[in-house]
Amino acid sequence: MPNHADVLIVGAGHAGAQCAIALRQSGFSGSIMLIGREPDLPYDRPSLSKDYFARDKSFERLLIRPAQFWADKQIALRLGEAVEAVHPDLKQVVLADESTVTYGTLIWATGGDPRPLAVPGANLSGIHTIRSRADCDGLMAAIDSGARRIAIVGGGYIGLEAAAVLARRECQVTVLEAAPRLLARVAGAEIAAFYAAEHTAHGVEIRLNASITALTGQDSVDGVALADGEVIPADAVIVGIGIAPSIAPLVAAGAAHGSGVSIDAFCRTSLPDVYAIGDCTAFACDHADGTVMRVESVQNANDQATCVARALCGEARPYRAFPWFWSNQYDLKLQTAGISLGHDATVLRGDPATRSFSVLYLKAGRAVAIDCVNMVKDYVQGRKLIEARARIDPASLADTSRQLKEMVSTI
Ligand SMILES: Cc1cc2nc3c(=O)[nH]c(=O)nc-3n(C[C@H](O)[C@H](O)[C@H](O)COP(=O)(O)OP(=O)(O)OC[C@H]3O[C@@H](n4cnc5c(N)ncnc54)[C@H](O)[C@@H]3O)c2cc1C
Repeated sequence: MPNHADVLIVGAGHAGAQCAIALRQSGFSGSIMLIGREPDLPYDRPSLSKDYFARDKSFERLLIRPAQFWADKQIALRLGEAVEAVHPDLKQVVLADESTVTYGTLIWATGGDPRPLAVPGANLSGIHTIRSRADCDGLMAAIDSGARRIAIVGGGYIGLEAAAVLARRECQVTVLEAAPRLLARVAGAEIAAFYAAEHTAHGVEIRLNASITALTGQDSVDGVALADGEVIPADAVIVGIGIAPSIAPLVAAGAAHGSGVSIDAFCRTSLPDVYAIGDCTAFACDHADGTVMRVESVQNANDQATCVARALCGEARPYRAFPWFWSNQYDLKLQTAGISLGHDATVLRGDPATRSFSVLYLKAGRAVAIDCVNMVKDYVQGRKLIEARARIDPASLADTSRQLKEMVSTI
């Protein structure tokens, strides 16, 4: 394996893989190396809480590109190896086995690690996260060997997607959410109430305002203790309470950072010739009025990756890609466009009882995001309103006798 790469990418997830692909697509002819901590070829991570977890898709079908692609494109892969230190002065990284690789340009694309639950008992066996294939395989093995009572800590998308899969596998699922409602970080109250009702109808118990004091058990977890003294019995616990960006080596090297490694509009860190992309980055998001934030999505990972690849091929343009997300639970497909952070009003379009409706989020009268449940038409048409941050009166938005595209033509 060479010990130098013109472009060295650390992290072989969505952002890292896409950056290598986009470099070749843009005609980059220098050497590229992708170093990834996981042993697997780059794969589609969202499937880990959806069709891979449900066993509707094999791992091979998750691969972002087949093995041969990387060889054909002369992208050197070092998988199962972690970078532990960065020396920007030497333009060098140090791996866990103490070998070194020098670079012309370094691209940091390391995503994040699941945040652990900070309570006694958090190190017992039987406590799972869902971030990597290995995590998911470990959880599936626990279910296969008889775990049936599953407590899920965290009512965000990953926890709820896992709950939907487990409910179909006849597990007794309890979702424990600290906030007064589900999806508090990512969606409005209407969407949260809808999903709470759906999960309840599928036999999932939702506990809101749940304050967890400990995970109980001797060696293996056997329950989740709550502040009021109740213990929820559990054969396995899934913790899905967000991620901490994997940026320690960059931070130790002196990179500016906040909730992630700080990047400018061109995805440059404060270190020379070091870019960062994907979940590990914090940046001023145009679509959230310049709020500095991490955007954890495949769209953001892929688009930042492409932005950097183009810059390295002489086509530097600031990163302004439009954010979109999705979540699959039961037979429900949620599609989101824009960022609802800081919204001050919502407009419901359609009737949640039909299981096909949308919610528009307004900020100072402008449409800033839309959540569409089994409503592809609204998603496709509504995106344009959101991209334009259209100012449309709420009564018109709510009127389902009118298509959103009619309103697009008025902006
Ligand atoms: C279960 C699950 C479901 C999701 N569902 C959706 C969804 O429906 N829609 C959506 O848009 N997004 C979803 N996401 C988020 C999406 O997967 C991420 O936003 C995306 O993977 C980010 O890409 P990334 O390359 O920044 O990070 P990752 O894909 O996490 O890749 C980072 C890689 O870097 C490796 N790494 C870390 N540190 C080092 C190191 N020091 N040295 C070498 N390698 C290192 C990691 O092991 C990892 O393989 C989901 C995420 C999860 C976990």
